[in-house]
Amino acid sequence: MSQPANGVLVVGSLHYDIMVAAPHRPVAGETVQGERWFPKFGGKGGNQAVAAARAGAPVRMLGAVGDDAFGAFLREGLSRGGVDDRWVATLPGEGSGMSVAVSDASGDYGAVIVSGANLRIDPARLEDDGLWAGMGLLMLQNEVSEALNLAAARAARARGVRVCLNAAPYRPLHPGLVGALDILIANALEAEALSKRAVAGLDQAEEAAERLARAVPIVVVTAGGDGVAVAESRSGSFALPAERVTPVSTHGAGDLFAGALAAALMDGAPLREAVERANRAAARHVAGLG
Ligand code: ADP
Repeated sequence: MSQPANGVLVVGSLHYDIMVAAPHRPVAGETVQGERWFPKFGGKGGNQAVAAARAGAPVRMLGAVGDDAFGAFLREGLSRGGVDDRWVATLPGEGSGMSVAVSDASGDYGAVIVSGANLRIDPARLEDDGLWAGMGLLMLQNEVSEALNLAAARAARARGVRVCLNAAPYRPLHPGLVGALDILIANALEAEALSKRAVAGLDQAEEAAERLARAVPIVVVTAGGDGVAVAESRSGSFALPAERVTPVSTHGAGDLFAGALAAALMDGAPLREAVERANRAAARHVAGLG
């Protein structure tokens, strides 16, 4: 008997994030005495993989880390998060992906990202059938190369696996990728850039989703504290207001939403219910209850 194809395969990025709190952000030539720092497991791929696993899905990740202490931390984060990391390569002589984010007293922050090993994920591994065993949904983001995303989407379609792109951070949609997508997730800024229309508030998020759904069967536009809008090419659109919570931090809300949505879909939930579950999970994350 074959395994049920209810797994989520994330092909994407892993970053060791160094979060620094300082009274103000440094200007050119300045050294600022910071107040504290802490390391955080990150990268949109890794965050979405862990979010989907925490929401109950079997999750596997294809990615790469460097042969360094950051890589060991990231691998540990995946396995502690319940993600199968056997397809995450450790690349000799390469640095792990990392970022430094400095936030100031007002909460504004500036960051530097170094992609490192994330740009050297080997596309040949996509041809390993073992990678796809039990997988029902491929999750992609824009922190790895376009070529890798295209190869992953093609390999998924060849095996009847659905394809979801979280278009974050924004880059123009590659024509070869558009046709391979079943689901597109974008936040308001990304939806604005993709649809070339202003997206302020839930009504405009729904309009953008409808516009984008001319090219992709299901489009989900997240609109932060306003909620989320969804359009299906074949059956219209709907919008859900955000759950009312007192926000502690909205950092990573989009990743949490994407991972929870993937897990709900693989759990067999109809689209509206899956979006409701993801909307609730993301609100809990924003409220610091995740
Ligand atoms: P991103 O982090 O990618 O910019 P959004 O800010 O659009 O993503 O947030 C993603 C989802 O997280 C929203 O659609 C919503 O479900 C939830 N969310 C974000 N901010 C809030 C908030 N202030 N209150 C409740 N839910 C929120």
